[in-house]
Amino acid sequence: MSFQPTLFGGSSRLSYDDAMEMTLASMRAYGADHDHWAIAYSGGKDSSATVTVIVHLIDVGLLPPPKSLTVFYADTRQELTPLAIAAERVMVQLRSRGIQVEVVRAPLDKRFLVYILGRGVPPPNNNTLRWCTRQIKVDPMTEALAARIDELEGNVLMITGVRQGESAIRDQRIVMSCSKDGAECGQGWYQQVLPNAKGVRGRIATLAPLLHWRVCNVWDWLRIHAPSERYGAWATADVADAYGGDEAEEINARTGCIGCPLASQDKALDTIIETPSWAYLAPLKGLKPLYRELREPQHRLRKEGAEKLKDGSIAANPQRMGPLTFAARLMALDRILTIQDACNKAAAQLGRPAIDIINSEEEMRIRELIAAETWPNGWEGDEPRADVMLDKVFQDGSVQPLLFRGLA
Ligand code: SF4
Repeated sequence: MSFQPTLFGGSSRLSYDDAMEMTLASMRAYGADHDHWAIAYSGGKDSSATVTVIVHLIDVGLLPPPKSLTVFYADTRQELTPLAIAAERVMVQLRSRGIQVEVVRAPLDKRFLVYILGRGVPPPNNNTLRWCTRQIKVDPMTEALAARIDELEGNVLMITGVRQGESAIRDQRIVMSCSKDGAECGQGWYQQVLPNAKGVRGRIATLAPLLHWRVCNVWDWLRIHAPSERYGAWATADVADAYGGDEAEEINARTGCIGCPLASQDKALDTIIETPSWAYLAPLKGLKPLYRELREPQHRLRKEGAEKLKDGSIAANPQRMGPLTFAARLMALDRILTIQDACNKAAAQLGRPAIDIINSEEEMRIRELIAAETWPNGWEGDEPRADVMLDKVFQDGSVQPLLFRGLA
């Protein structure tokens, strides 16, 4: 079950005060029906605003507190460094208020880079082949939430940072896309997928109390209000700065994993490396082109003939491209480690924070999986490379031989 705050009628542009008033109204209306609240937090702008607004409203007595409040931080291991650091600071502040904070991570073999380089699954490239959000964000969140619910008595409200600005008021619809209006990756999925996920189905409701906030309301909160003593002295200005500070409304950057293959541009990373203190992260710009390159045929295997499904029928895409070759995986591992080393050498010289998008445990596991000749389900590793010319097989099983076999 998910709540859409239909009490927010009207279509005029929202002032910050109106936006906050509506948030309070929705939290009072729906929060009171739930003994326990949980917040899905990722360190991005929308969920950072959500978590700090809710805690502030409780702190100043405007919002009756629930029996318990748990903040779940989804750590993908691929977060933009300034945002990950800002999130750490916010979590310290939350814990100092007695709020339970749980850091949620995918198991080792399912982490973004281990899955790509160890198991050989190509980077995601569009919404239909998008395995990452579910695997590195939604599933770990579901598991952690299910474990927490087991400890609690009573019902739970999962609060998400889904935000759609005025379109939320207009059409009352939540989209899953994180490429729309700079929305934060994962939040729409928490809102839509989580309530029906195995382990928590029927045990939670979700609410997006900032659904109607415009992006400028978010910046005002993160940059001006939240950092002031009056509102809790939150460490949120760094979050806004990571998106480009005063230029942020125009940039409307979306954040998520560094070099996210689904984002059309690396706007947040571009903004970050323009800041002198973060310029040493510039080598990270090499990740996005690498992820794109890995999807090319010379780095992948292909099904040779008509791939039969379990029911005996032929697959819709009989000669589909599949996993990454071992050579491609090792090439990519080497390039990512080189990028990481370049950032960290500069960080050491400058006295700045280091990055670890691949830590030693993950690197070891990737090498182990490659050495064990690991392939994704349905692949043996003896399929031809995808850039090898083959007879064309159609979905009805018919074959069109190569015209120039001798040249192939
Ligand atoms: S930010 Fe991009 S790579 Fe990361 S989970 Fe979201 S869609 Fe996937």
